[in-house]
Amino acid sequence: MRAMAEMTLSDRATDFVNDDTLHYLLDTRRPDPVHVRELIAKSLSKQPLTVDETAVLLNASDPELTEQIFETARQLKRDVYGNRIVLFAPLYIGNDCVNDCAYCAFKRSNREVVRRSLDHSEIRAQVEALERKGHKRLILVFGEHPRYNADFIAECVRLVYEIRVGHGEIRRVNINAAPMDVAGFRTIKNSGIGTYQIFQETYHHGTYARLHPSSTRKGDYLYRLDGLSRAMEAGIDDVGIGALFGLYDWRFEVMGLVTHGLHLQHTYGVGPHTISFPRLRPAAGVALDSPWAVSDHDFKRAIAILRLAVPYTGMILTARESPAFRKEALGFGVSQIDAGSRIELGGYTEAGDTQCMEREQFELGDIRPLDQVMRELLLDGYLPSFCTSCYRLGRTGEHFMEFAIPGFIQRFCTPNALTTLMEYLVDYATPETRAAGEKAIAAEIAKMPDGKVKKQLMEAIGRIGKSDERDLYF
Ligand code: SAM
Ligand code: SF4
Repeated sequence: MRAMAEMTLSDRATDFVNDDTLHYLLDTRRPDPVHVRELIAKSLSKQPLTVDETAVLLNASDPELTEQIFETARQLKRDVYGNRIVLFAPLYIGNDCVNDCAYCAFKRSNREVVRRSLDHSEIRAQVEALERKGHKRLILVFGEHPRYNADFIAECVRLVYEIRVGHGEIRRVNINAAPMDVAGFRTIKNSGIGTYQIFQETYHHGTYARLHPSSTRKGDYLYRLDGLSRAMEAGIDDVGIGALFGLYDWRFEVMGLVTHGLHLQHTYGVGPHTISFPRLRPAAGVALDSPWAVSDHDFKRAIAILRLAVPYTGMILTARESPAFRKEALGFGVSQIDAGSRIELGGYTEAGDTQCMEREQFELGDIRPLDQVMRELLLDGYLPSFCTSCYRLGRTGEHFMEFAIPGFIQRFCTPNALTTLMEYLVDYATPETRAAGEKAIAAEIAKMPDGKVKKQLMEAIGRIGKSDERDLYF
């Protein structure tokens, strides 16, 4: 497949994942409690861990050490991200697909799924429905098909940015789509995207080969692994990596993610902006009998260890998970979640209260409306945020890394979380959520030291409350 002209690799393409090395580290790195505590101290000083060190934590399974790892993850979340949780929604644009990934309802051999690609008016209707709920950040999701080429994706992005309803607008559009060549990524970058996300699915070569037929485009492990390197070469410096947990040993996948992050950091000077860790879900027409299902307990360990290994990388927990699991796992260092999500094509206007499996890629675990999720976050002491300021002010890639230091949150993130929350409360919230939100805003402002930032913030919040002024950011 790699012989195809459009499947050109990046200039510095290399398969940096060595299965034998990762297995060797997992087999040999013993979790000596003293060493584990040293690594915990290293994480708390916000230094990233090596792959070797990550293996030690992955082998630390006794309850006491596990609790210490969990507590460290909770503390890092508080220290690096504060209590903010950024909210977004997925928007599926089309589910035609030339691949045959064994776990996905969109695989080409699946006859049970209803195929559909949204046209411009249908995209408009979906985006308007999302804006009416209060969303400001979307991720557009595509199957892999010649129709969903770079020009098509760029056109969708531009369209989404243009759509306005009342005070509603989408201020950041991220992408989850098949990898392109460098020229394709450039086209997409020029449309003004935020993050480009590609999941490796499994970093284990043998499993990858088994689940992605070699006759399909996605069957080329290296082309996919190299995808975000090409994105970086095209100038996209906010990229998201991910692995689909449940295809292979979860500990190996954590090692793969850390390896990938370090590779991008060393090669391009910028690590990934986000890490996603979707967990395998039931899907229509999919009967995957994987021996690698990840229990809730091990999945929490995976999330916490990732938090320790990459203290400054955003972590995304999706609505694949149940409300109860999300509530607990949020504390382990998650910085972004989706809410009010529907993944049926056209789902934001057409779906009812239950999911229609034949129209979606997999079953979601949490389809609560955005307002309900917002209220629960507020009552649990989190600060929901729709902030999109950094990338709009050019604080991306390595610039973002420079800023992601103590002091940045107080100066920018918390004020932007509060102004975007205030917009939500005024324009979209139910009375109960508005009451919870106003209480949270007052409490956050009371915690801030007196000074210029606090004064400007209070003025901005007042203006949003009393006028049509919106999008006031720091
Ligand atoms: N088609 C593009 C690709 O494969 O890169 C875009 C991504 S796909 C629409 C989004 C992601 O959903 C995949 O990368 C995969 O990790 C995840 N996914 C697929 N089937 C799943 C399932 N049964 N349960 C949970 N996640 C799944
Ligand atoms: Fe297609 Fe992506 Fe599903 Fe694979 S995961 S079948 S590439 S939509």
